[in-house]
Amino acid sequence: MDIFDHMETALSDLQSAGNYRVFAELERHCSAFPRATFHEETGDTREVTVWCSNDYLGMGQNPIVTSRMTEIIQKCGAGAGGTRNISGTNHYHVLLERELADLHGKEAALIFSSGYVSNWAALGTILSRIPGIIVYSDALNHASMIEGIRHSRCQKRLFRHNDPAHLRALMAADDPAAPKMVAFESVYSMDGDIAPIKEICDVAEDFGAITYLDEVHAVGMYGPRGGGVAEREGLMDRLTVIEGTLGKAFGVMGGYITGPAVLIDFVRSFASGFIFTTALPPALAAGATASIRHLKESRSERAAHQANVAKVRAALDRRGIPHMNNPSHIVPVMVGNASKCKWISDILLTDFGIYVQPINYPTVPVGTERLRITPTPLHDEADIRHLAESLCALWSQCALARAVA
Ligand SMILES: *Cc1c(COP(=O)(O)O)cnc(C)c1O
Repeated sequence: MDIFDHMETALSDLQSAGNYRVFAELERHCSAFPRATFHEETGDTREVTVWCSNDYLGMGQNPIVTSRMTEIIQKCGAGAGGTRNISGTNHYHVLLERELADLHGKEAALIFSSGYVSNWAALGTILSRIPGIIVYSDALNHASMIEGIRHSRCQKRLFRHNDPAHLRALMAADDPAAPKMVAFESVYSMDGDIAPIKEICDVAEDFGAITYLDEVHAVGMYGPRGGGVAEREGLMDRLTVIEGTLGKAFGVMGGYITGPAVLIDFVRSFASGFIFTTALPPALAAGATASIRHLKESRSERAAHQANVAKVRAALDRRGIPHMNNPSHIVPVMVGNASKCKWISDILLTDFGIYVQPINYPTVPVGTERLRITPTPLHDEADIRHLAESLCALWSQCALARAVA
């Protein structure tokens, strides 16, 4: 078999299934988010409004964050200069870890290059090094958790998505003496549904399991201080580990875990994906700290965000555009066909100046292809109307089914 022929075939299979990924080349405009310049392959450019960013609150351009980053670049330079172990631990990393531990009411925190790496490294390390541990993983957990679990080669049980009764049945069937972990998310990124955190913690407690919660889509966004859904529901102390990202609502980059000091020290001491990599730039750590601190105090971003999410849903409802009804800020507009989804996204971009990336298999199951719309507090009334009207026009053109009111 020729290696390159094999690659060509695999790629053309993706193309014919409509699942080939094309990245939209954007230039984000600081202080004008959600506007960006879209660079076409031809070299032409056009101005677009971004409707699928995970910079949920626009913190990526907030002057509190950007000025702090500029200040620390001037003060400390561009990079960290080493791994955390060898000269790379900067004062601003330590301050960030304290801020994160405080945010989630935990003893300690540890930062990683990204949320992906934090899940992969923390789960991979804990699950591979605790003898006989069994992990119970929600069926819709993110790829980074799945990879961490797979890498650990520990015993694994999949419980049905958001189903504490199934979790209980699985746990009851296992050796009561085996150490156990339950790993799940609060807000699920593609359907925007929210886990029954309390019920899952109740089951975990009955079987003496530790709990690991990915709050990536909730940190900064929910709870009085932006501590996530567990904070909003008064449940942070029920979770052993709360994991999050600095790259979504906090607007910067990086990932982290928070939890008991001994567990954090254990991951710090044994996780290859933490130890053998250059530390985050100090300016980035300082910018993230400024973002977290701001969102701990200020609720106006969260309130404006929720209000805009409600406006988008109402505008779609008025025009019969089907979207998944969920209790979060994620608005999945269902198309149900990979090629149509891609086509709608292309036309929105070229004819309507709207950028929403199509979400196709394997990110979501075949037949549930969608446009994942993420309103921000910075979209205005005209943006919302234009989005809804454009989708309405395309729904007619494509003869797609409408939602019945
Ligand atoms: C985006 C995401 C991650 C990874 O976070 P990054 O900081 O982007 O690497 C982890 N978990 C979930 C559920 C995510 O959606």
